[in-house]
Amino acid sequence: MSVILSVENLKKYFPVEQTFLDRLLGRRKEYVKAVDGVSFEIKRGETLALVGESGCGKTTTGRLVVRLLKPTGGKIVFDGIDITFTKESELRKWFRRKAQIIFQDPYASLNPKMKIGEAIEDPLLIHFGDKLSKKERKEEVLKIMSKVGLVPPEYFYDRYPHELSGGQRQRAVIARALVLRPEFIVADEPTSSLDVSIRAQILKLLQTLKEEFKLTFLFITHDLATAYYIADRIAVMYLGRIVEVGDAKKVILNPAHIYTRALFSAVPLPDPKLNRSRSKIKIRSEPPNPINIPSGCRFHPRCPYAEERCRRQNPPLIKIDEKHFTACWLYS
Ligand code: SF4
Repeated sequence: MSVILSVENLKKYFPVEQTFLDRLLGRRKEYVKAVDGVSFEIKRGETLALVGESGCGKTTTGRLVVRLLKPTGGKIVFDGIDITFTKESELRKWFRRKAQIIFQDPYASLNPKMKIGEAIEDPLLIHFGDKLSKKERKEEVLKIMSKVGLVPPEYFYDRYPHELSGGQRQRAVIARALVLRPEFIVADEPTSSLDVSIRAQILKLLQTLKEEFKLTFLFITHDLATAYYIADRIAVMYLGRIVEVGDAKKVILNPAHIYTRALFSAVPLPDPKLNRSRSKIKIRSEPPNPINIPSGCRFHPRCPYAEERCRRQNPPLIKIDEKHFTACWLYS
C-alpha cells in the first residue's frame, strides 16, 4: 500500500494574547504549543485513529493535515506533494477535492437556512460550477444521499437541518464530505455528539463507505472503544506529541507507554478475563499547562515510574516490535 499522507515534525504554536502590562514590562511572548513535533504516515485505504484526552492536540493535528490551519513548522506531504505552506488558491485546484473533514457537531456544520440537498450540492457548485448542469448536480446529490442512508433521498433533499434527527444530520454531513469523491477524510469525533444507539450505526456506515469509496481515514476520538472498532492503527497523543503508535489490537491489548496504560486501564474491555489481567495504573493530577511544557518526557510530572533521565531527556519513539512504537525510556 502506498503512503497517502506523511507528516513530519509538525508544529502548531498559538500565540497567547499579551496584556497591556505584559507589553509595558517587556514580557516575552508566550505560545500554546498545541502540536509540537508530530510525525506519522497513513497508507492508502488505512484508518489511523488519533486518541488522547481533550486538549492533547489531536483536533489541531486534524485541521493542520487538511490545511484548515497553517502549520508553524514541519512538513505535510499529501499524495507525494508537499502542501505544508501551499496557498489556498492552489489547494482549491486539487487538494480540497481530495481531502475532506467531518466535524463533531452535525448541527453546527450545516447552515440552518439551507435545505439539506442544497448543502450537499454546494461543494459541487464551488468546485465544478457550470461544468455540471443543475440536473446533473441534483442527480449526484440524490445518489450520495441514498448511499449514506438518507432515504428516500427526494424527501430529505427538501428538508431543513432542524427537521432531521442528530443521526440524519450527521449522515447529511457525511454526504456533503463525499459528494466530491475524496480520497482522504479527517473524521473529528464524528459520533461523540450522538446518542449511543446511533453511534454504532454511523460507525458502521463509515466502515461501509470506506470500502465502497476506497477511502483513507484519520479518525480523531477520545473514545478507545471507538478507536478499537474503527482503526487499523492507533496513535496516542499527549501534550502535543505522539507517545505511542501501533496496530490497533497491540496498542489496546498491550499498551506500552505509561500514559496509554493509565488511559486504557480506566476503560472496560468486552472480555472480563482481559480486564482482570490488565495492570491498573493511576496517574497524578491534571495535564500540565501547554504553555509551560515540562522538560524531558513531558509526562514525567504525572508518571509513577519517572526517573532522573525522564526529567532531562525527551524519549524518541522506540521500537517494541515491527508494528508498535512508544516514546518511553523504560523500553530503551
Ligand atoms: Fe514515565 Fe519516564 Fe516513560 Fe516518561 S519516559 S512515561 S516519565 S517512565
